Amino acid sequence: MAAPGLRLGALRLFEMPAVLERLSRSNSTSQAFAEVLRLPKQQLRKLLYPLQEVERFLAPHGRQDLHLRTFDPSPEDLARADNVFTATERNRIDYVSSAVCIDHAPDLPRPEVCFIGRSNAGKSSLIKALFSLAPEVEVRVSKKPGHTKKMNFFKVGKHFTVVDMKGYGYRAPEDFVDMVETYLKERRGRARNVKRTFLLVDSVVGIQKTDNIAIEMCEEFALPYVIVLTKIDRSSKGHPLKQVLLIQKFVNTKTQGYFPQLFPVSAVTFSGIHLLRCFIASVTGNLD
Ligand code: GDP
Repeated sequence: MAAPGLRLGALRLFEMPAVLERLSRSNSTSQAFAEVLRLPKQQLRKLLYPLQEVERFLAPHGRQDLHLRTFDPSPEDLARADNVFTATERNRIDYVSSAVCIDHAPDLPRPEVCFIGRSNAGKSSLIKALFSLAPEVEVRVSKKPGHTKKMNFFKVGKHFTVVDMKGYGYRAPEDFVDMVETYLKERRGRARNVKRTFLLVDSVVGIQKTDNIAIEMCEEFALPYVIVLTKIDRSSKGHPLKQVLLIQKFVNTKTQGYFPQLFPVSAVTFSGIHLLRCFIASVTGNLD
């Protein structure tokens, strides 16, 4: 049994060095992840379980009815998920194509995960970070907002497809409705349907009006979605907590059954990236 307030996956970090040693000795742990496991414990926890730092504020007085939940895989599962995201001869990870509209989208049979967010929310940077174990995959990151004009498709071995949607809210609300809404309507409920929609929110600016439209859309279509809080390295001291609490309030008052799991991430420090990879591998059925 986990101690109150401690999650099981994070708790296992306390069992180290036993876990560390077993994992780093295992042939199935990638070299990159074995190196991660050698980080000092505090740093490791921040990198692998970033929500843990603020978690005690999320469920005051042990309330069980909070919509916001935390995903809590073991370090072993994090290592397995990293393998899914590692490009090898047998696990090819490639950019497939781009499409300006859904009619031009490739007909891919695998489960999909899709990333949406306002322009400049950090979508390209996040996808690039997720694919850092496949350095040949080209993800274009721009300093100019509104750069992502098309939806981009990436395939991750035989496992799943990652869809990078055009950013919304910057000179393009109508494009957002045209493209994202059509895509979500089109792909839901099929064998190749979207397993999760990842809605990116910039932690420096928080949830904006345009994000509400996207959230309402996910709720209306009953799409499972989660919120990814980006750029947490840029938030000033205490700020990620403030955003997390605001999002928790938002979830509790504005959302229905499809509660948005929250993932704080940084594409710069890589905090939360392993956890997000693990969540994607899990929801696409690759950790069973
Ligand atoms: P997109 O328009 O949503 O694809 O956003 P980008 O990935 O192009 O990022 C927009 C800007 O935010 C760029 O200048 C990035 O360098 C910066 N950025 C993105 N992610 C992070 C992050 O995690 N930390 C920091 N400090 N900057 C980031």
